[in-house]
Amino acid sequence: MSYICNGCDKAIRPTDTTNTVPNRVVIETRRVKYPPRTYYRGGVSFNDPGGVGTEIVREHNLCPKCSGVAVPKTAPETMAPEVVA
Ligand SMILES: [Zn+2]
Repeated sequence: MSYICNGCDKAIRPTDTTNTVPNRVVIETRRVKYPPRTYYRGGVSFNDPGGVGTEIVREHNLCPKCSGVAVPKTAPETMAPEVVA
């Protein structure tokens, strides 16, 4: 993955053997309110009670130098799959 670091404005490009992912730092969040709703899936109706949560408004992509955090350098095909919470 290539990206432009928000700290030093340099383009960070992967090499042939490594894949450097940006360290994402959340700059701004907002509270959101989700209204209750009814939705249908497979002909069955579900009631979503809604609620409150947090959304990211802005985040920075930082290279390892700017973030001070070591980024694992792993070949793309050996990286672990992304975990969805
Ligand atoms: Zn940087």
